[in-house]
Amino acid sequence: MRNWLERSPLDRLPTGRAEEALAALWRGAVVVEVDGDGAIASQQGRPRPLESPGDRQPADVLLGTVDGVAWFARGVDVVSGESMSWRDTNPDSLDPLATGVALTRWHASQPPCEVCGSATRPDLAGSRRICVGCGNLQFPRIDPCVIVAVTDPDDRLLLARQRQWAKGRVSVIAGFIEAGESVEQAVHREVFEEVGARVTSLSYVGSEPWPMPRSLMLGFEARAEDDEISVDGDEISEGAYYTRSDLAAALGAGEVILPAGASIARALIQRWLSSG
Ligand SMILES: [Zn+2]
Repeated sequence: MRNWLERSPLDRLPTGRAEEALAALWRGAVVVEVDGDGAIASQQGRPRPLESPGDRQPADVLLGTVDGVAWFARGVDVVSGESMSWRDTNPDSLDPLATGVALTRWHASQPPCEVCGSATRPDLAGSRRICVGCGNLQFPRIDPCVIVAVTDPDDRLLLARQRQWAKGRVSVIAGFIEAGESVEQAVHREVFEEVGARVTSLSYVGSEPWPMPRSLMLGFEARAEDDEISVDGDEISEGAYYTRSDLAAALGAGEVILPAGASIARALIQRWLSSG
């Protein structure tokens, strides 16, 4: 069973109780080291205390608790010992690790205050930042993206290669939601821009955090009106519709490489594979 992260347990405490609560959370806490590339290593150990003015070393960031155990993240230049990418980990632990990657990267960027431009410092064990000039509170920003498995009227799946990807690497269509746009409009626009197809029958499948750097992927399925595509040649360099047996053959021959197992892109492809 998946263990969900109970987020920011300090947020719900009265002012002044946070340090006391944090001291209790230290016992048996898990500290996850995270570097700027999203490599992680976990260790059992005592997190560093809350940051106070004059500290040279940043405090560890409290991610939340899983089954009563507190998880902290420590941003480092290079993780110590054996490491792995956050996205190659067991899906059961993806939730706190994705949060750890997102929050440590956000703190490392030391964003200035959005109101007055002064410096900000971590507050409330790193769940937010506070402006040293005007006291404005700042929270991590998330960039929403759509990702969509497009099938043609014969239920063949569209897979495309982005220009910067290695030869053979393919995935479903994805892109950022633009300012003022609805999620549904973004799906229609991205598919049309990238492969020139018009889609209908949008249905929402699920979402996934993608903290490199700070995306939230919103997964959809959609049906193209016909089987014509015309790749934009800019973002997408090639694309094609596959039957399930076409894809199995291409995978067997090593002609295509699918996205990693923990990604929503892969989940959308698997969903189509198992629905036929
Ligand atoms: Zn300010």
